Amino acid sequence: MAYRTENPATGVVEQEFTSATDADVASAVERADAAFTSWRNTPAEQRAAAVAAVADAFQERGDELARVISTEMGKPFKQAQGEVALSSAIYRWYADNGPALLKEETLDVGDDAKSVVVTEPVGVLMGVMPWNFPQYQVARFAAPNLVLGNTVLLKHASICARTGELIEEIMHAAGIPEDAYINLFASTDQITDIVADPRVRGVSLTGSEGAGKAVALTAAENLKKSVLELGGSDPLIVLDDVDVAKTAKTVAITRMRNAGQACNSPKRILVPSGMFDEFVQTVVQTVEGMTVGDPLAEDTKIGPLSSTEGRDDAVAQVERAVAQGATLHTGGKALDKDGAWMAPAVLTGVTSEMDAYKEEIFGPVAVVYSYDSVDEAVEIANDSPFGLSGSVWGQDTAKAEEVARRLQVGMTYVNEHGTTMPGLPFGGVRRSGYGRELGRWGFDEFSNTKLVRVA
Ligand code: NAP
Repeated sequence: MAYRTENPATGVVEQEFTSATDADVASAVERADAAFTSWRNTPAEQRAAAVAAVADAFQERGDELARVISTEMGKPFKQAQGEVALSSAIYRWYADNGPALLKEETLDVGDDAKSVVVTEPVGVLMGVMPWNFPQYQVARFAAPNLVLGNTVLLKHASICARTGELIEEIMHAAGIPEDAYINLFASTDQITDIVADPRVRGVSLTGSEGAGKAVALTAAENLKKSVLELGGSDPLIVLDDVDVAKTAKTVAITRMRNAGQACNSPKRILVPSGMFDEFVQTVVQTVEGMTVGDPLAEDTKIGPLSSTEGRDDAVAQVERAVAQGATLHTGGKALDKDGAWMAPAVLTGVTSEMDAYKEEIFGPVAVVYSYDSVDEAVEIANDSPFGLSGSVWGQDTAKAEEVARRLQVGMTYVNEHGTTMPGLPFGGVRRSGYGRELGRWGFDEFSNTKLVRVA
């Protein structure tokens, strides 16, 4: 795709960017490889200091970075500010904790020899990132790897090119060497060549299953590691002891965050049959009360989708669900104005025969299911090709935790959904991908756990 900013709130193309030539790509790989030797030999504390300066810049330039996010992909400004703050916290966490986590460990294995484990970087990495959290997703890949001593080539989503440029500018101004972090406006074919290049030691992709499969295949053919953070259709189970109105309102707001375009948004809401009607009614009222409008306006709760293609896909999924027998309570149509607008929707009556049961709906669509027993709720929750995260809501938190532990996902929560913090692991199972980001786990994916033994 062409790299350009097409404001999804207006449909106006605001900026176009020059794609990388093959020569640019070849030079980038060569420079990142050459930079690896000196970057890995730079003391960890010095690498961490540069990453801390990145965190500072994110704090200082927060509103500017947030405005670019809102303009590129339509996220309401307040939510974009939150994303930038989280990104800054991630850079800070790795700057503060990284050097200690990289300390070598002496093992006592019951003999007189010295056994030491050292954590070393592996080389040049390719990062391929999506548009839905354009700052946060880069942060969780780049921060640990830069502190670890890897060098980074970064291909951002074509609709978030300005964000890609800004991150590179901030990195270099903060003291990350120019060749240790390189932003590339590369094509899909060029990404394949980069992943296949023997000097590139691994690839991390956040995005769709199709893109994940493409890079993982190339990585596998070349015997190198990939980390994939893919889609999700997270279950959210409501237990029968909740305050119905309060929970329904919170859940509706959570589902509509980022216009529903989050991998870990609660896309399947499971509610006891005894409270189903009241719950759905509150969800509908809440959704209808949310201001859909200019992402830069103060009171906007739901902006446009990131692109008209994304909007059309979500609308088509709703239409197909209805054609297959589901009930649409509100919204679900494209708004009659320029840009990628859609009225937020609430669906019920989705059954296992319908496409909507198994698909990820990447837009502002709350799907509410009814269940008769907790066992049935868990069965529906686990009956998904995805396994990113899931949550359980109830006043009896011990019971809710017991149910949450039965979910076959990478992350479970009680009385919250999708909380992301720098020190908590992030990642999924099944078709949601493999590998983990953030926290100490973020170091493990692209490091060499090296044994040094002296007899
Ligand atoms: P996407 O189309 O897969 O795009 C993601 C990135 O991959 C973009 O940079 C894209 O480039 C690139 N890409 C696309 N096809 C490629 C290929 N064949 N080879 C190499 N790179 C390729 O995904 P998206 O629509 O932006 O994002 C939505 C998806 O990401 C959803 O499924 C969502 O659930 C998932 N997601 C997962 C997580 C997680 O942590 N698990 C987080 C956020 C999003 P272009 O932009 O140039 O096409």
